[in-house]
Amino acid sequence: MTGSRPASGPSFLVDRRPAERFEGSHCFVTIDAETDVIETGIRVISELRQEVEAREKIRIPLVWFVRFQRSWGEYVENDSAAAFAGPVTEGYDGFAMARDQLLELLRRGDEVGWHYHAYNYVHRDDLSHATRLEILRADLAACARDLRQAHPEFPVRSLRFGWFFVPDYAIYDELSGLGIVRDASIDPGRGDGPVGPFSARHLRPLVTAPTRIDGLTLFPFSKTVLMHDWTVVAHDFGWSRLEKAEAADKRRRFVNTLAAIAARLKQADGEFLTYETAPASMLEGPAGE
Ligand SMILES: [Zn+2]
Repeated sequence: MTGSRPASGPSFLVDRRPAERFEGSHCFVTIDAETDVIETGIRVISELRQEVEAREKIRIPLVWFVRFQRSWGEYVENDSAAAFAGPVTEGYDGFAMARDQLLELLRRGDEVGWHYHAYNYVHRDDLSHATRLEILRADLAACARDLRQAHPEFPVRSLRFGWFFVPDYAIYDELSGLGIVRDASIDPGRGDGPVGPFSARHLRPLVTAPTRIDGLTLFPFSKTVLMHDWTVVAHDFGWSRLEKAEAADKRRRFVNTLAAIAARLKQADGEFLTYETAPASMLEGPAGE
């Protein structure tokens, strides 16, 4: 399957924050897996994780957000919700591309979630907010339906929107109906800044700490490491390009970051968590009080 145009460039999402920012009793390590190099990316990141686990003697479960949605062209060309109600016939299905690897990762205790970019919303700024929200609702419902139908072996319960961009928090009302009970799409650090190169702007963060709201638990981007399948593999996608030496450098930095966080967590008697295994006691809101 093709249809890749998942991000806006490597500088936009590369995590440059120092390990000092990760003080505390837990850390999440997440990977947005979304491109043609998904298989190599998963293999490399998994090996690097294992290297740090062995050296630091600590378990490092990972959360893999795997992209599943229509092609970029469909999001650009269509302008009504009706066009997004039907089945996903072409697009990007990371669950199919890396199926065996992801099943193996599930078996070792990793979590596999869903990664979805609101491409229509950011690209079709000629349409009203209401129309684009209607499209987003229709498309999320169709994609979730097809994802579960095509891949019942993956118990997908967590979601991260691409670019950390939630076009309207009203969409959260629909997520539990799609089987999504955890969201990792809010990055308080982005304020109300622009979404990549697009005219859309981030919403003000709904929460800044892990919080349960109705049926949905929100895990904002804090004490979280972010990697991408394409960050550790040399590639040239047009929208993103990475030389071998740069990819090697990023692999080294990933290992160093994980090792530094591992050392701090061990000192604090802390642990690496997935969203699935995060204890209710860490949450704000009625359930965590
Ligand atoms: Zn993405």
